[in-house]
Amino acid sequence: MNITGAVLEEVDAKRPFAASRPISISELQLDEPGPGELLVQIEAAGVCHSDLSVVDGSRIRPVPMLLGHEAAGIVVQLGAGSGGSGKSKLEVGDRVVMTFLPRCGTCAGCATGGRLPCEVGTAANAAGTLVGGGRRLSRDGVPVNHHLGVSAFATHAVVNRTSVVRVDSDVPPDVAAVLGCAVLTGGGAVLNAGHPGLGETVMVVGLGGVGMAALLTAIAAGHPVVGVDAVPEKLERALALGASEVFTPEELAESGVTASVVVEAAGNPRAFETAISGTSAGGITVTVGLPSPTAMASISPLGLVAQARTIVGSYLGSAVPQRDIPRYVKLWRAGRLPVEELISSRISLDGVNRAMDDLADGQAIRQIIEF
Ligand SMILES: [Zn+2]
Ligand SMILES: [Zn+2]
Repeated sequence: MNITGAVLEEVDAKRPFAASRPISISELQLDEPGPGELLVQIEAAGVCHSDLSVVDGSRIRPVPMLLGHEAAGIVVQLGAGSGGSGKSKLEVGDRVVMTFLPRCGTCAGCATGGRLPCEVGTAANAAGTLVGGGRRLSRDGVPVNHHLGVSAFATHAVVNRTSVVRVDSDVPPDVAAVLGCAVLTGGGAVLNAGHPGLGETVMVVGLGGVGMAALLTAIAAGHPVVGVDAVPEKLERALALGASEVFTPEELAESGVTASVVVEAAGNPRAFETAISGTSAGGITVTVGLPSPTAMASISPLGLVAQARTIVGSYLGSAVPQRDIPRYVKLWRAGRLPVEELISSRISLDGVNRAMDDLADGQAIRQIIEF
């Protein structure tokens, strides 16, 4: 079938992207879903920092690539054997959340309960293919790469069964989309990697989509939350969402305030250092941001030893999407996890270049592309 999608044509384009337009809106050809795959009509897709990292070249992926990895949609067609059975059964008409790190369920990584990513999914993501191998996207006969097994900045996507989690139809598409990356990552950084004890304070450094999701999740779990960001508007937003205290990094250093669990969600080494120095004795620093591979940070080993502190890296919030997304849906349905508060604007597909600028400028939390 023919679809319309947002294709990244070149990496490392000049800012502003709204002028250089590294992403073009094109017509593409999408193959039928193969065995274990499904065709999804995209309803909503979030613009995430991991999309920007591909656009600005800090994360090298093959181009041309149809971007977008945080999304929700409706199952239109099931490939052979992709319906499954029992609790995870999928049918045409079901709403699904896309998740950007498929879990095959059988490799050594999948056996770690979320601590390590799936080896098969990671290899497919790096190659720009689906988990089952190969590409279902092309343009005038030339293959186009998939982004993280999803490629959701498009009217439709063919994805592997392991890249989706079914949700009930009462979960609106925009909420469902944000569950798939921001909440899975930020929420998981708190619950799966940080494991805060009863009533312990959680600090979040970097209040973008993932950081704000970490903040909401920590509040939902009953923890006082300290928010840290360099952008005053984001601090105000964090207070409005229920943070007990907020600081710029400089203010935090002066105040001496620390927390037992600190989540770094900014993806830069200075934020990582701020997170380390904001961690209490005996506490844990969880780093979930994705800085450039060449970024280096400076920390005091003695501080770690003398204060018995832990630093832990968490990829995708150490999440198992099939296990975790239903938990977040339950919290959302109970009114305890107001995921819609993460949505800062709604745009159409042709606004995607400008959306990358807004994200790079730190102006956006979650911009949702509506179809
Ligand atoms: Zn993302
Ligand atoms: Zn696996």
